[in-house]
Amino acid sequence: MFGSVLIANRGEIAVRVIRACRLLGLRAVAVHSVADADSAHVRLADTAICIGPAPARQSYLDQAAILAAAEVTGAEAIHPGYGFLSENAAFADRVEEAGLTFIGPAGATMRVMGDKIAAKRAMRAAGVPCVPGLDEGLPHDPGRVIEIAHDIGYPLILKAAGGGGGRGMRRVDREEDLLDALAVTREEGRSAFGNGEIYAERFLTHPRHVEIQVIADAHGHALWLGSRDCSLQRRHQKVIEEAPAPGIEPSQLAAVGERCAHACRQIGYRGVGTFEFLYEDGAFFFIEMNTRLQVEHPVTEMTSGLDLVELQIRVARGERLQLRQDEVTCRGHSFECRLNAEDPVTFKPSPGLITDWQMPGGPGVRIDTHAGPGYRVPPYYDSLIGKLIVHGATRDDALARLRAALDEARIEGIATNLPLHRRLASDTVFCAGGVDIHYLERGMSGGVA
Ligand code: ADP
Repeated sequence: MFGSVLIANRGEIAVRVIRACRLLGLRAVAVHSVADADSAHVRLADTAICIGPAPARQSYLDQAAILAAAEVTGAEAIHPGYGFLSENAAFADRVEEAGLTFIGPAGATMRVMGDKIAAKRAMRAAGVPCVPGLDEGLPHDPGRVIEIAHDIGYPLILKAAGGGGGRGMRRVDREEDLLDALAVTREEGRSAFGNGEIYAERFLTHPRHVEIQVIADAHGHALWLGSRDCSLQRRHQKVIEEAPAPGIEPSQLAAVGERCAHACRQIGYRGVGTFEFLYEDGAFFFIEMNTRLQVEHPVTEMTSGLDLVELQIRVARGERLQLRQDEVTCRGHSFECRLNAEDPVTFKPSPGLITDWQMPGGPGVRIDTHAGPGYRVPPYYDSLIGKLIVHGATRDDALARLRAALDEARIEGIATNLPLHRRLASDTVFCAGGVDIHYLERGMSGGVA
């Protein structure tokens, strides 16, 4: 049991975690860089401590500085949020070695899931459907590589076992390109991730991105909490997410959800997590598991009525999940727009002073943000300044609320992607549901995105 939590993060997610701490009567400790001294998470926390200069490497990624801050402030647990150190197994181990609780799975679990080949092997063993291909690294013998690729078929995708963030992957369309592509990807894997192991799987040409939210306690009880569709992406960055994934039979979602919960039990998973799938022609294919809270967790909160961060902290405290699977329901429909400080056409980051900020309200509208009028978006971190989340009784109701909310939202002083969100919320193909992951980059239905 712990009575205080240090939040090793910034921005809207730090604010979100502090709110959950409040609810549970826990003391919230904020850490911040020099650039974030006036930030909302610093003001909201019970204690705040500066851990270094603006660049993340010298602050939010500085493990020693964060552990020292925990010691100085007497924090007993560390919540990593998402990004930064949230999927760093070595950091999770260091936190536990320092006698603190890491709010997330064990380092060893994160290590398995961080290696894409090991993760795929573990998931296939647990009966989770995976993309066709061998669950092992490609050999060095060129003849064998060509044979393996032939069995998978073209197009295929080469992936670095240690890859992440959309890097370390290469599509191969023809056998004559295979060996060169493999050499380049191997080199990339070695230099960017310190791991030259590469595997191959079938390339899916028009998949949707559908994911399953799970939670597991330390006593072997695991649940799946619903599906999300995050197919609207640009450069592998999600733009709008929704729950549940539209147009998929609830019985099919339940079947794959059950497999995910079963996999959690099998690997001894603890905490919240997300199984990411590509969904093509009616079938699910596992691609990776995220061993942390996701940016898009609010859409699941809106449809399940559960507070995921509260539950995440409770299971980290060793509490048993009080919920049975048949008590988890999906009510209505929810969308989340990621509000970014960026040019809506070129997508170039647009830091600076927010001179005017008006957010919508009313039934079924939720804003998660650390920004507001007079807030200066620093140039050092990612460009997410908030999330606009809506809920409605049906998908169409939620879309109507989304359009009204986006019309009401005003952010002045910096460029944001609000105009892009407005176009998407009125785009007939998106509104019909079920677009694939290339839809946004193809330019939507009516021209260049
Ligand atoms: P990362 O860890 O770098 O995010 P993922 O394995 O999650 O890597 O894949 C990222 C993205 O790459 C996917 O969302 C999808 O767009 C594309 N991708 C991955 N595997 C495949 C595949 N087998 N076929 C087609 N696209 C793929």
